[in-house]
Amino acid sequence: MPELTTNVRYVKGIGEQRAKSLEKLNITTLRDLISYFPRAYDDRRIYKKIADLAEGEPACVEALVAAPPTLNRIRAGLELVKLRVVDETGALDITFFNQAYMRDNLQAGETYTFFGKPEGVGRKKSMANPIVEREGSRLMTGRIMPIYPLTAGISQLTLVKAVEQGLAACQKLLPDPLPDEIRREHQLCHIGYAYEQIHFPSSEETLAIARRRLVFEELFLLAIGLKRLRGRRDELSCQPWEKTDLTDFTAALSFELTGAQKRAIEDVRAGLSSGRPMNRLVQGDVGSGKTMVAAAALVCAAQNGKQAALMAPTEILAEQHYNGLGPLLEKLGIRAALLTGGMGAKARRAVLSGLADGKIQAAIGTHALISGDVAYRDLGLVVTDEQHRFGVGQRSALAAKGERPHLLVMSATPIPRTLALMIYGDLDVSIIDELPPGRQKIDTFAVPGSYHPRIYRFLEKQIGEGRQAYMICSMVEENGQIPDDRKAAVAYAEDLQEKVFPHLKVACVHGRMKPREKEKVMAAFAGGEIQILVSTTVVEVGVDVPNATVMVVEDADRFGLSQLHQLRGRVGRGMHKSYCILISDNRSEEARARLKVMTRTGNGFEIAEEDLRLRGPGDFFGQRQHGLPALKVADLTCDMALLKEAQAAAFALLSRDPGLGSCPETAARVEEMFAANSGAMN
Ligand code: ADP
Ligand code: MG
Repeated sequence: MPELTTNVRYVKGIGEQRAKSLEKLNITTLRDLISYFPRAYDDRRIYKKIADLAEGEPACVEALVAAPPTLNRIRAGLELVKLRVVDETGALDITFFNQAYMRDNLQAGETYTFFGKPEGVGRKKSMANPIVEREGSRLMTGRIMPIYPLTAGISQLTLVKAVEQGLAACQKLLPDPLPDEIRREHQLCHIGYAYEQIHFPSSEETLAIARRRLVFEELFLLAIGLKRLRGRRDELSCQPWEKTDLTDFTAALSFELTGAQKRAIEDVRAGLSSGRPMNRLVQGDVGSGKTMVAAAALVCAAQNGKQAALMAPTEILAEQHYNGLGPLLEKLGIRAALLTGGMGAKARRAVLSGLADGKIQAAIGTHALISGDVAYRDLGLVVTDEQHRFGVGQRSALAAKGERPHLLVMSATPIPRTLALMIYGDLDVSIIDELPPGRQKIDTFAVPGSYHPRIYRFLEKQIGEGRQAYMICSMVEENGQIPDDRKAAVAYAEDLQEKVFPHLKVACVHGRMKPREKEKVMAAFAGGEIQILVSTTVVEVGVDVPNATVMVVEDADRFGLSQLHQLRGRVGRGMHKSYCILISDNRSEEARARLKVMTRTGNGFEIAEEDLRLRGPGDFFGQRQHGLPALKVADLTCDMALLKEAQAAAFALLSRDPGLGSCPETAARVEEMFAANSGAMN
């Protein structure tokens, strides 16, 4: 009697050879096998007589092979097997390309079922590369067929047979991770039926029933797991921060905070004074003013005698934060210091000693803030900017430098509503959904490379009016290696300087530059000495030059939508009308659809939804950084209603039975699901 953990090679009808092939798909146990869900289905239920076949409409035909098939070698690499089949209504010509074995597989005088897409009309009907099986076999024809993702050496047929064997072997042993009363309450089918129908549906309706149940199950387990992780954090406590007076802070600003900024700051104040370590995500589109929320938190830290660290993903960004926040903090009597990897040893020593003895209250920097020799006297707040650039590990490393510090994460990559609800379930999220006043729409165009001359003329005109521009050239990846962006950027900038804009000042920044050089170039650009700044993606995050009004992106189709949105956010930060020009010669439908999204909307949340829809959650921005287990059946863009239902059921169960003692199978599956992600959400 097999068990779910049994190796597939022991399943009846599978054996060594097939087990080896299956291993390539990461299928080793019986559970893996039956959980290997189809990626699509092919409806092969329609049978037709030859006379009724309609051009382009796939159908099954039962027909007799009229004469022995012929094999023709047209040229190297092209072999044709041809045959004519007949039924009582007519004849059909069948061709197989490069399947020479078909000549011997098909016997004259025998009847087979052929499934394929008919071509031609009247007496000249044909079918190319149909699926064939013996009449009455009904394994590959006559039903809704699962289409599995494959790798080399495994055919659909192999998988179909293996899964059928697997299902037969374990129909009776599938334990249900959904407690019975929840299954009934939400009108979900039995697990055995769900597995059978997700692989081999009898109809669209039964497939929908199976899918609904499996999606529910998956989201239910996910919700339980996330809630439990969160629960662990809730048990922690800390000294509440009692002083959170921001009157002087707001008075020191040169502008009025937006309503959304005020709300987010209120959320932060409440979190800091709650007596539990805060863990809050602030989400806001580029330019929405997240930095001020961070600044408010830094001020609170100082008022309560705690140190705070603000970590940015790049040196440029860290320096910009320091240059922007330093004077503001000093005005409020708070000592701030910059700490980056590129600093001189002497300056660094001074900062380290200031952090160790507590003289420095706010440290702003890169991941240099978490290097081994950096010690804080009393780190009470950790702010990380542009969250998705950091791995979870880096964030926790910084948090570990304090005693349960409050965490504030700022993300400029809007997370689609569905994802946020899932990942952050009941975690604290503040959304800044309002831009500071006076921002204009950035006109965005998607154009082919042939537009270069026009683009140059446009740049000339903008620069003539005193504006500046960014030009982003893409890096060519060399056999999977992290590409060297220096070559690309330097060559591009030199070309532009010599051949196109000899009378202007063109400069470039790239990842291989020393921080100090980079800083110099950025400062010159910010100061208006440079008119065109060439870069790969270094300017992607946070850089603020309000006079820059044009963003040109070469090979725009190579960037993700969210990345393009970030890049576009570099312009439109001042009072001048701004433009974004996306250049691409990729004519594929997908590439064009994606760039069109950019021209249509400037709303980061909408763009994120589209990105998720077009690329799937796996690609969205790295599963691991979310700490979100991979989902097999649920589709985060469509299953919103079911997600809410499953989440409610999960929370209800946890409040009835926090230890899940009544449903060990549920507990075990949650454990399994999160095994690869332990600690990720903390
Ligand atoms: P984000 O980090 O969300 O992309 P920033 O914090 O860098 O945005 O803010 C973008 C720009 O808007 C900065 O120049 C900042 O000084 C300015 N800014 C922020 N809040 C306001 C506001 N309430 N009114 C006007 N300008 C603001
Ligand atoms: Mg920012």
